[in-house]
Amino acid sequence: MQTPTPGAGLVELDLNTPRRFYAGGARILAFRGLPAPDGFDGRRPEDWLASTTRLFAEGGDGLTRLRGGALLADALAEDPAWWLGEAHVEQHGADPGILVKLLDAGERLPVHSHPDRGFAAAHLDCAHGKTEAWLVVDAEPGARVWLGFREALTVEELTDLVAAQDERLLAALNEVPVERGDAVLVPAGQPHAIGAGVLVVELQEPTDFSVMLEHERFGLEPEHAWLGLARELALRSVDRGPLSPRRLLSLRTRWDVAPGAGITPALPDEASPYFRAEVLDSRGGSVEAAAGFSVLVVVDGAGTLAAASAASLPVRAGQVVLAPYAAGALTLSGPVVALRASPATAVPPATHPGPSTEGAAPGP
Ligand SMILES: [Zn+2]
Repeated sequence: MQTPTPGAGLVELDLNTPRRFYAGGARILAFRGLPAPDGFDGRRPEDWLASTTRLFAEGGDGLTRLRGGALLADALAEDPAWWLGEAHVEQHGADPGILVKLLDAGERLPVHSHPDRGFAAAHLDCAHGKTEAWLVVDAEPGARVWLGFREALTVEELTDLVAAQDERLLAALNEVPVERGDAVLVPAGQPHAIGAGVLVVELQEPTDFSVMLEHERFGLEPEHAWLGLARELALRSVDRGPLSPRRLLSLRTRWDVAPGAGITPALPDEASPYFRAEVLDSRGGSVEAAAGFSVLVVVDGAGTLAAASAASLPVRAGQVVLAPYAAGALTLSGPVVALRASPATAVPPATHPGPSTEGAAPGP
């Protein structure tokens, strides 16, 4: 095991909200406790956290800059083992393997899907597809998300639905009511949409490959909608279903079921090849988490985050902290809840299954 470097610090992450084609962003500002910047255009629905990924289109922004001005991607390339740990670097080089976002759906997002690793390797020259997951931290009453076709579609039926560009596409998906505390895993290939009024911490493979099944009403060009591929080929990446009620249940869990439970998993085990999400809950006493490159989003309370090799950092709800591997083990104290997102390799899984498995579905 690599020894963490003495003096290594925790890194607070500032707002990083590239302009997008859909509305949102006010909930991100409110969550982070920030005033709206001058000229806020209401089209800043995503805060890209510890990002080494660029938007596929729309100007190609998205990269995280550290407070000193350097791009995180450059810092990782310069000293990958310091940031990511040698075990991660041996497997993945300087690629963190994860992208984390705050996402505020100011309007319903278009129905879209993301290719899996096999499709991305074959057609997009990339080792990552995009499995993603949502940890709901705020939702208006009645808020909903949509995931997977309820009934199996033939290629022709999918093609016709997409060509029509009307409400039937959304109506063909499973509708899922959500509230704060819900967690949903979205496997690559599954069509999905997030409804208006939902703020999530989103974990994903580090790409921006989206097949925009619904695009006309959002003013997206076909070139953007189909990832620069022929429509027929792009549609081959879509899971035509069905996503059964039982399968849907297996993709859902709750992240906040046990106040003060310490460290608990926040996603179904099926997420583990892609990323890891844990709840660090110190409302019942301080918790200590293993060293690992990770993004911590504080979602409740105020207290301190200490690293074995760094000075304590006061933390409060709305704050986002990047922990380098070299910072060492983390200790969260005070009545605080943080969601911790890590690459698949960086942190051993939480061994305390805790009550967070209550209400979770049986395996698929
Ligand atoms: Zn998506």
